[in-house]
Amino acid sequence: MPEKTIHFQDGQELTADLPHNTLDPRYSECTDHRLACMCREAHMAEDRHEFIAERELAKRAFNDVLKDHNTFPADGLECRCTGCEIARRVGQVFRSYVDVVYERRDRRLSGGGA
Ligand SMILES: [Zn+2]
Ligand SMILES: [Zn+2]
Repeated sequence: MPEKTIHFQDGQELTADLPHNTLDPRYSECTDHRLACMCREAHMAEDRHEFIAERELAKRAFNDVLKDHNTFPADGLECRCTGCEIARRVGQVFRSYVDVVYERRDRRLSGGGA
């Protein structure tokens, strides 16, 4: 496992192989609860991984459902369906203009027209 360095505000550094989730035995063994203790690091890593996974799931759902929709008005009329409306409202988080550009490019490459 790659080591990670934690930088404390007072300039101290701690380089360690930190736990990735609360299944790590160091999570339940941690007793000296302090900043960057093993149980906090385990919780934080777990939360971060869950957040990233949920975000990816949501992003994939947006892009699968809205594939080939003119969500962003690059070439004229924007789609007014509920999905595209929501995608535009959450900004570039789950379905970005770049995603749409790639879809258009892929469609062109596969001969599906402009
Ligand atoms: Zn702890
Ligand atoms: Zn739409």
